[in-house]
Amino acid sequence: MDLGYETSMESTNSSSSSSSPSRYESQKRRDWDTFGQYLRNNKPPLSFPHFHPSHVLEFMHYLDQFGKTKIHIQTCPYFGVPNPPTACPCPFRQAWGSLDALVGRLRAAYDEHGGNPQINPFGAPEVRRFLREVRDFQAKSRGISYEKKRKRPKQQQEEQEDQQEQV
Ligand SMILES: [Zn+2]
Repeated sequence: MDLGYETSMESTNSSSSSSSPSRYESQKRRDWDTFGQYLRNNKPPLSFPHFHPSHVLEFMHYLDQFGKTKIHIQTCPYFGVPNPPTACPCPFRQAWGSLDALVGRLRAAYDEHGGNPQINPFGAPEVRRFLREVRDFQAKSRGISYEKKRKRPKQQQEEQEDQQEQV
């Protein structure tokens, strides 16, 4: 039993994302709108393409408040325990899988909106590094492994997420 993925960012059923591009596209558009809104609310307001990788990182931190995945802190007795028997006061965060997928969609959207692929902030080294750190920490915190999943074909992985959502 692996509850490694939280798909709150992907509110729609994602099993068909490869078979029905429109769903992926609409999710991508929603993500892009959300990010655009985030930029406009920045002080001072920002707009495409005038933002930096640091804003992408801030955006991901901002999204954490809507996260639904419990991430145990190191001092929690359930740190590294996949299925804790009782609740604990650790914070909810965006799961790495959700952030990774989100950044992938935004990266594509950036290119499609005419952004310079050479400086795509969503593909910046600091963003990739951050995602790696999130993945490693969440894997430790939740006692799960993302590595095994990553080797699986993408579609199979998404189907598994759907099964989890239906539970
Ligand atoms: Zn905890």
